[in-house]
Amino acid sequence: MTDQYTFTDPVTQYRQDGYPEQHQDPPGLAAELEPKADHGEGSYRGTGRLTGRKALVTGADSGIGRAVAIALAREGADVVLNYLPSEEKDAQEVADLVRTAGRTAVLAPADLTDESAARGIVRTTVEKFGGIDLLVNVAGKQQYVEKLEDLSPEQFDATFKTNVYALFWIIQEAVPHMPAGSTIVNTSSIQAYTPSPGLVDYATTKMAINTMSKALAQQLAPRGIRVNVVAPGPFWTPLQASGGQPTSALPEFGQETPLGRAGQPAELAGAYVYLSSAESGYVTGDTLNVNGGMPTP
Ligand code: NAD
Ligand code: MG
Repeated sequence: MTDQYTFTDPVTQYRQDGYPEQHQDPPGLAAELEPKADHGEGSYRGTGRLTGRKALVTGADSGIGRAVAIALAREGADVVLNYLPSEEKDAQEVADLVRTAGRTAVLAPADLTDESAARGIVRTTVEKFGGIDLLVNVAGKQQYVEKLEDLSPEQFDATFKTNVYALFWIIQEAVPHMPAGSTIVNTSSIQAYTPSPGLVDYATTKMAINTMSKALAQQLAPRGIRVNVVAPGPFWTPLQASGGQPTSALPEFGQETPLGRAGQPAELAGAYVYLSSAESGYVTGDTLNVNGGMPTP
């Protein structure tokens, strides 16, 4: 069986053709993506890098968060899975994969635009696991709006609540329960540096995540808690097929990258595992770009 260590040509490893036009209502479901994304279900091989860790992953039902949850579990972590209630079907599949890996999965549906719900998923983790030592924030809202006049204040607010405020609420609630050695990994985007004209609200939140993480990393370093960021380029996930891009952009999705194709969520797992494990022990306040070769600052 091939796994993430198999010698492979990255140009041809995955679909190079772009994706068929399709639309789901946000947040969309992995189960309805056509073609299906690869989250590492059949390939990610753990080697005990996170044995016994207590993890909380947001956006864990689909896309990047699903790939992260699978990888953390196969590396030996128990995982609380957060997602929106409408994503229960996707989340159940991830819970099954975590349990098949021999680890505990706890389902924690919650809308993170609500402060008490966001803080609540941390309390659930502490109640179920007795603490938290891996916090991976993957949940995010991205809705493409071509004209500024059409960007509603409600959307602007919801994008900031989901991508920035929730991060603050969750991290503030979690830190008192995180022992030295714990890690926080947040999710930014190539959009932080090269914003698309139709992603004004989203791109701004992603730069905020980079900056918040760098400030927090310095503040928390003396306590032995590291904070890092993964900044993906174009990855095939429900977010892209439910308004994150104009539908007409999907046939060329990802082809602007030097590798000439979109990434698959499975290709991000290694970045999150590295930043969550002790092997990155001297790395904090950094952003790891996984984007098919697009230049970053
Ligand atoms: P995805 O749709 O699979 O995941 C996003 C998840 O965010 C959803 O599954 C949902 O559970 C969660 N979410 C959204 N609003 C929420 C809310 N109010 N409360 C709770 N959860 C909420 O798509 P993805 O592409 O895997 O996105 C994961 C992260 O990766 C996001 O932060 C996104 O900004 C980031 N990202 C994605 C890409 C890409 O090309 N797919 C590129 C750069 C960054
Ligand atoms: Mg989802």
